[in-house]
Amino acid sequence: MSDQSIRSPQTVTRTARTRGVDEEAYLEVTDLQVQFPTADGMVKAVQGLSYSLPLGRTLAIVGESGSGKSVSSMAVMGLHDARTARISGSIKVGGRQIVGLSEKELESYRGKDSAMIFQDPQSSLHPYFTIGDQIMEGYRTHNNVSRSKAKARAIEMLDRVGIPNPRRRVDNYPHEFSGGMRQRAMIAMALVNDPKLLIADEPTTALDVTVQAQILDLISDLQRDFGSAVVFITHDLGVVAEIADDILVMYAGNAIEHGPVDKILGTPLHPYTWGLLESIPALAGEPQPLHPIPGTPPSLLAVPSGCAFHPRCEFRGRVPGDLCTTLRPELIPRTGDQGRASRCHLKEPDHVFQSEILPRLP
Ligand code: SF4
Repeated sequence: MSDQSIRSPQTVTRTARTRGVDEEAYLEVTDLQVQFPTADGMVKAVQGLSYSLPLGRTLAIVGESGSGKSVSSMAVMGLHDARTARISGSIKVGGRQIVGLSEKELESYRGKDSAMIFQDPQSSLHPYFTIGDQIMEGYRTHNNVSRSKAKARAIEMLDRVGIPNPRRRVDNYPHEFSGGMRQRAMIAMALVNDPKLLIADEPTTALDVTVQAQILDLISDLQRDFGSAVVFITHDLGVVAEIADDILVMYAGNAIEHGPVDKILGTPLHPYTWGLLESIPALAGEPQPLHPIPGTPPSLLAVPSGCAFHPRCEFRGRVPGDLCTTLRPELIPRTGDQGRASRCHLKEPDHVFQSEILPRLP
């Protein structure tokens, strides 16, 4: 099966249109491939990924480690080293092609048109420079302003992200901030140039639950105020329910399910998404047995034939013949169902979900 089947930018753009949201896709990823040559062979980290995202919406990209969610988002940011990564396909941000830009062009793009918040502010903030200096640096790189104007902007941003006493705190070093405050400072750094595209890579994983909720609220508020497009990378479906408009579930370097958050969390169509839902422990009521997904994610050096999920899928016996092991399913949009799409050979997955999976969800 060729990758042609998953090149569906028209489908994805139509998805946004059918929902009556902002018509224009600000971020448009088409047939993205990211590969890393290694001594053991070619690591196929992303294989023909397509999606789009309009301004004002949040897309959660969900999947286990090695699913390609972070690697694909780093490609959107132009963060891969051209000497070690092979990138093909198209990534358009505000209509501008990112694939193939020079390092100099990428420097002017990063932090201005797009910005990224990382998981671990401790290692992303430089310990020898004040918080204010680090916010100011990003601002002055893209704006020809004096130091005092940049400092005023840093104070404004710290205030905007809820740091108390920003005039005093702007001169603090990272070690003088708590974990939650450091993450807020990272968000201030990311947003200092009003980027239209924000990518947040597991930004709350290292934080305790209360601070996590505050940071999620902050990102939602800021998105509303700035009108940005947000890509939120996470493995936590609880977080997704809080923050996302749409979900893209990734497995072994590709999208296996895509659609509005209420649809994907309410009636998912793909056995892998079912497995993710079944792996979430219940927070209330009687303790329920968990149903973790058996096995481990595949090596990206040797992705299984046919459906990449087939070695772990308890439903492959329901599909006639050897389709699951020999034929890669297409990402098929469901007609009249708000543009949701799933990559699975199983017939009537909604019925299977309602009758078999739903009753055993925690
Ligand atoms: Fe399971 Fe087959 Fe669907 Fe893959 S295509 S998820 S193996 S039923």
